[in-house]
Amino acid sequence: MRTSPDASPELQQLHARIRACTLCGLHATRTQAVPGTGPSLAEIMIVGEAPGFNEDVQGHPFVGAAGKLLDTLLGQIGLSRQDVFITNVLKCRPPQNRDPMPNEAEACLPYLRQQFALVRPKAVLILGRHALERMLPGVGSISRVHGQIFMRSGVAFMPCYHPAAALHNGGLLADLQRDFDRVREYLDRLLAQPPAAPEAAAGAAGSEPPAPEPAAPEPEAEQLPLI
Ligand code: URA
Repeated sequence: MRTSPDASPELQQLHARIRACTLCGLHATRTQAVPGTGPSLAEIMIVGEAPGFNEDVQGHPFVGAAGKLLDTLLGQIGLSRQDVFITNVLKCRPPQNRDPMPNEAEACLPYLRQQFALVRPKAVLILGRHALERMLPGVGSISRVHGQIFMRSGVAFMPCYHPAAALHNGGLLADLQRDFDRVREYLDRLLAQPPAAPEAAAGAAGSEPPAPEPAAPEPEAEQLPLI
């Protein structure tokens, strides 16, 4: 399975462009690009750092040990892969899983922006410090802001520890589970929003429903590079 066969034509075209991409040097060392998987429209988008060994071989995000933990965490809050769109900041594996380089992230970010525009999530889980630095620059370290909610243009951005970090340091697992509990709480509040009144809905045809306020509102920083 690559991009879901029932993915929208726009998402399929975007993922075909990603698979053929040669914008940075990683195309020379990858087995294949890993665009992302999930429904064409999803309320939740999950963004990790970059494909690793298994992802590079299989062409799907989060299929190794970190992916298994991600599946467990999703299951614990009543979600599965079918419910979420999963991708990474980098679509190609850096050799030896080294950290992404700034020029690689710059080259790849337009793809993430286009995925975001097509998938139209209401909540974005940001996994780990590299994705955080790219998506919410300047908000603070992952150890300080994980579990918080940052509202940007009606979308909730939620930094969490990366599952791979919790596999390396078991002490982070409880934090990561709490981060996912916060995600569930947010989604429950979102789903509990009363539907817009008919006249208001008519006036706002085509616009997003209002998102609930975050539990601990964060000041809006400068425009998120993603949106
Ligand atoms: N780690 C990531 O950040 N992404 C993957 O797809 C797998 C592991």
